[in-house]
Amino acid sequence: MALTFPFSAIVGQDEMKQAILMSAVDSTIGGVLVFGDRGTGKSTAVRALAALLPKMQAVVGCRYGCDPASEGSACPDCAALRGASRARLASHLIPVPVVDLPLGATEDRVVGALDLERALSQGVKSFEPGLLARANRGFLYIDEVNLLEDHLVDLLIDVAASGENVVEREGLSVRHPARFVLIGSGNPEEGELRPQLLDRFGLSVEVRTPQELEARVEVVKRRDAFERDPAAFSLAWKKEDDHTRRMILAARKRLDSVIVPDAARQGAAKLCMALGTDGLRGDLTLIRAARANAALQGDAQVGGTHLRRVAACALRHRLRRNPLDDTGSTTRVDRAVAELFPG
Ligand SMILES: [Zn+2]
Repeated sequence: MALTFPFSAIVGQDEMKQAILMSAVDSTIGGVLVFGDRGTGKSTAVRALAALLPKMQAVVGCRYGCDPASEGSACPDCAALRGASRARLASHLIPVPVVDLPLGATEDRVVGALDLERALSQGVKSFEPGLLARANRGFLYIDEVNLLEDHLVDLLIDVAASGENVVEREGLSVRHPARFVLIGSGNPEEGELRPQLLDRFGLSVEVRTPQELEARVEVVKRRDAFERDPAAFSLAWKKEDDHTRRMILAARKRLDSVIVPDAARQGAAKLCMALGTDGLRGDLTLIRAARANAALQGDAQVGGTHLRRVAACALRHRLRRNPLDDTGSTTRVDRAVAELFPG
């Protein structure tokens, strides 16, 4: 298998890396929307992080990559096998999947469909799993999510939120696990996402072409070194990648015990009120992201520092446009944060 560019070797893009790390720690945050220029390696960080995560135990032959230890979320195939044999299902290690959703993918291709070939040749109604099945327990990456049909984006967000794909059609009724972190990239200049869809993504980040000379030179230098000798380059970054992996695993363990004091909840609510975000999704995401951030830092409870750190990526895509004020959303969030959480 080809080597993936090491996560630690990515120059800058701190907010993007932080957002993906938080999603990897708490998948209920609701995915990441990445806005930015072409050619800034938006998908690199996702692939790098997935490659860095430890391989997972999965049931041998399962098309959904079910976790053998989790009976509750087993697919129909595994549930049937388990019921029939009462034996432990054989398992093997698989890498964390990153599935690309190609532009123009049909709904059938995404959610799965009736296996026509089997239906015609054997007269058997069976299910041909789609991309959502392959993405189970991993990442689903959509390049240019703004060019995807709205109903498909809606559907993807629904499945990502519920962790389950339900297909009812052509006499088929299938339900299978589809837990994944949704990562969508968009070019702000090419069509915009409806605000209702924007709001359903947990976090959003902006990735820019580096404007500092040093950073640009470093990006090119590392990319070149990697392409010339991927093995040597990966080895050179192994220690830092190992460190990041341990940090994620520790944060996942710690997450449930991180305390969210009422003061932090109030802080989050005040910030959302000051910015006039609709509904409560902003408050909820802000708290979840701050908790994941605290878990990654090894902190026992959520405080102003964590809220401050995650506010822009949890809220900037939820702001209503003010026709009298064309200040960018990041600036507006930063301003409100500075007023509410000085220091
Ligand atoms: Zn299964």
